[in-house]
Amino acid sequence: MARGAEEALQESGSAAPAASGGGQREPAAAGLCPICLGDLDNAAHVGTCLHTFCFGCIRQWAAVRAACPLCRQRFGRILHTFTFSPPQGVGRGRE
Ligand SMILES: [Zn+2]
Ligand SMILES: [Zn+2]
Repeated sequence: MARGAEEALQESGSAAPAASGGGQREPAAAGLCPICLGDLDNAAHVGTCLHTFCFGCIRQWAAVRAACPLCRQRFGRILHTFTFSPPQGVGRGRE
């Protein structure tokens, strides 16, 4: 039993682990776009770090620089999450 290792992991009482190199505060409220500081409109994720922005905002941003505005990680693609629409008329249909 390695009891020493377990205790070492819990040296600080804070629940959140310290992010590496985090000097910039992210907006606390989820659902806000860090670029326009408004409500997320067509939420889209950056391919590398999965930070969330408006699709329009991050698309314009990506046209200038393909790096996350929050953590500066370069990304190669934007993951656009479309609004949930139930499949209609496709797939299993009754005959
Ligand atoms: Zn936005
Ligand atoms: Zn990011």
